[in-house]
Amino acid sequence: MIIVKHIEDLKYFIHNRPSHLKLIGFVPTMGALHAGHISLIQKAKEESDFVVCSIFVNPTQFNNAADFDKYPITIERDIDMLEAAGCDLLFLPDVNEMYPSGDPVVFYELGFIETVLEGAFRSGHFQGVCRIVDKLLQAVTPHRLFMGQKDYQQCMVVQKMIEITQSPVQLVVCDCVREESGLAMSSRNMRLSEAQKKQALHIIKCLRTIQSNLKPGEMHTLTKAAFTLLEKEGFKVDYVAIADAQTLAPVSNWDGQQKLVALVAAYLQEVRLIDNILLKGAL
Ligand code: AMP
Repeated sequence: MIIVKHIEDLKYFIHNRPSHLKLIGFVPTMGALHAGHISLIQKAKEESDFVVCSIFVNPTQFNNAADFDKYPITIERDIDMLEAAGCDLLFLPDVNEMYPSGDPVVFYELGFIETVLEGAFRSGHFQGVCRIVDKLLQAVTPHRLFMGQKDYQQCMVVQKMIEITQSPVQLVVCDCVREESGLAMSSRNMRLSEAQKKQALHIIKCLRTIQSNLKPGEMHTLTKAAFTLLEKEGFKVDYVAIADAQTLAPVSNWDGQQKLVALVAAYLQEVRLIDNILLKGAL
């Protein structure tokens, strides 16, 4: 695996890749890799010829300084995992490389999608996500971009950014990889104790309960019950929501037809966890 730290070197190796390796697949990450990230590399290998991964803990998408400071870093292990998965090139920039001084702040007109759920609770987060993904797309020039449904709203935001910037890249949304227990894999899980990992299972349990109890009519009873249960189990809950799977518009009364997604964001101590599940009609 080629490892580069500078955009110029990245461009050089991409431009001079063997001519039979036409399609470039790209997996952006913040490192502290787990099997969820590796599933994206595998999908990228299936659907492209030359796989590029980036590891960059992007400061502009953190609305909470402590979350940024405590973000896990396991770079040696990450490199081993990417090598084993057959990644072709790893881009490992530092902050000055991605944000040189005087770098203009672009504003992305994301509209409604930026105002709800993660957008409402993490001010500026999605502008930071768009800023870095846009820069990375311009540097890597991939044909396909692989991202995880684990970050459901992020995929929608990045799709919107791709449309705004008229980037030719095709976004491929990949399934969420879970522990056998059901816990959605996340780099932030490294900050949980074993007891907290068990406690965290209440999130997917609540989502599955919503999934199995869903019926046409009002939705508030379902979300309220999940919210209350999570609070009782020691979470500080940002939201439990049932929304339109395509727009994330809130759905208060379901007609039995509309495609839905249920989403949760909640803290265990200072670790913020998110998860989601597609509901009947959207499966
Ligand atoms: P992150 O390093 O958390 O920024 O994530 C990098 C990419 O990996 C994003 O597209 C995430 O949605 C994706 N990802 C994170 N966790 C998982 C998971 N459990 N399963 C599949 N993809 C994931």
